[in-house]
Amino acid sequence: MTYCNLVAGEWVQGATAGLNRNPSDPNDVIGEYAQASVDQLDAAIAAARAAFPAWSTGGIQARSDALDRIGTEILARREELGALLAREEGKTRPEAIGEVTRAGHIFRFFAGECLRLSGELLPSVRPGVGVEITREPVGVVALITPWNFPIAIPAWKIAPALAWGNCVVLKPADLTPASAWALAEIIHRCGLPAGVFNLVMGRGSVIGDAFVTHPGIDAVSFTGSTDVGHRIAVQCAERGKKVQLEMGGKNPQVVLDDADLPQAVELCVQSAFFSTGQRCTAASRLIVTEGIHDRFVEAMAQRMAGLRVGDALHADTHIGPAASEAQLRQDLDYVEGARTEGAVLVAGGGAADCHTNSGKRGFFVAPTLLTETTPSMRINREEVFGPVASVIRVRDYEQALAVANDTPFGLSSGIATTSLRHARHFQRHSQAGMVMVNLPTAGVDYHVPFGGRKGSSYGPREQGRYAQEFFTSVKTAYVQG
Ligand code: NAP
Repeated sequence: MTYCNLVAGEWVQGATAGLNRNPSDPNDVIGEYAQASVDQLDAAIAAARAAFPAWSTGGIQARSDALDRIGTEILARREELGALLAREEGKTRPEAIGEVTRAGHIFRFFAGECLRLSGELLPSVRPGVGVEITREPVGVVALITPWNFPIAIPAWKIAPALAWGNCVVLKPADLTPASAWALAEIIHRCGLPAGVFNLVMGRGSVIGDAFVTHPGIDAVSFTGSTDVGHRIAVQCAERGKKVQLEMGGKNPQVVLDDADLPQAVELCVQSAFFSTGQRCTAASRLIVTEGIHDRFVEAMAQRMAGLRVGDALHADTHIGPAASEAQLRQDLDYVEGARTEGAVLVAGGGAADCHTNSGKRGFFVAPTLLTETTPSMRINREEVFGPVASVIRVRDYEQALAVANDTPFGLSSGIATTSLRHARHFQRHSQAGMVMVNLPTAGVDYHVPFGGRKGSSYGPREQGRYAQEFFTSVKTAYVQG
């Protein structure tokens, strides 16, 4: 059986199909998933356009009910969907169940939000005239998502898009179509009119340009790498399309002399290594003041020795595999490059020796800690996207802040300190969209804005009610009489 694309309310075969493999055990094939041609993409966009007039002006109760049904089913099936997600992406089962739970909560949150869309009523400067400011749907939106959160990111784009009356064409990452397909199947059964939601699986390199530049697409919401994001931004700007980009990170975690050491170690381990470091909000630069540096490194090495790398579905696994062989190679290349530049390897540094049920080796990377690194090294400039963290030794808080901000990215940042003065100063002066005080850089709520600054993000924020900025368009009406 091939898992099909969803176009105009029908399941349709793709032009080709690809095998989805388990990164913990590449002999384990999860399924064969359709890959669309450009013609099929055209059909999906046409279906969304045809559905838009009725959907965008229809009742909000129907929208709210549909979103609520989707969220409720996701939450009821969180164990099963979490196991599927862990099997295809490689985060551990508890992490995957957490991601699925987040997706369910997001749909339920937006089931409420679509009833709360408000406007403004103002007097005009002209007597007898009223001014009404309202928000309307944008139209047909293209949603393009990465492999590292294969259900939560589609959820946090689809739910607000539908809540505010847009029609959707979703293209998930080619590496992890199973979670997106399972979500599409739930959406298909929740009572939306045909064409309101369409799933087009397929390769970005084959259908990406046609998708983004299609005249039937009004707006593009993208999460993924910086290079692809920049390309999409140019394509959208040239055509006057609304665009929203969430891209990479090189997130700093500052540890000051006055930090609670066990707490600092715990949040650094969580930030850097959990979910195999494959989170855009993962901390990869640990910026540590010199009074605590040696004790911190020793405690980190000790804590890391207790981390078990293994099959994402095994109960005793702390860190699952890299999502693909290419990602594994990328992780190890960065470590090798850092050592060549003078970094000292304290822990990890290679493929982890874990064999799977089938005897074939999964894409396991040992959690890796590098010390004696400097801000200019490549390991501290570019996103690795694996369980690899480097320590940068600094003199004091002022230097820590300067190093934390010395990056082209600005997604998330964290500080471990017991000083209220430093915590507040960092909160104000860190050049990141999200700042964490005595908390891991990764791990955010679903009902508040998410996004970064500088090279990490472009356009309006995602999530919470701030998602309105992207998924609605403001209209100002002047009314006399
Ligand atoms: P990616 O390679 O940029 O892919 C992202 C999506 O774009 C995939 O669906 C991909 O399709 C598609 N794509 C590729 N080329 C395209 C093109 N020319 N036109 C249109 N779409 C195209 O990123 P990834 O490797 O999946 O994800 C990892 C990256 O995502 C990391 O940099 C991470 O930091 C970032 N990320 C950011 C956030 C955030 O909120 N800031 C959250 C999660 C992840 P294919 O899969 O078929 O290539």
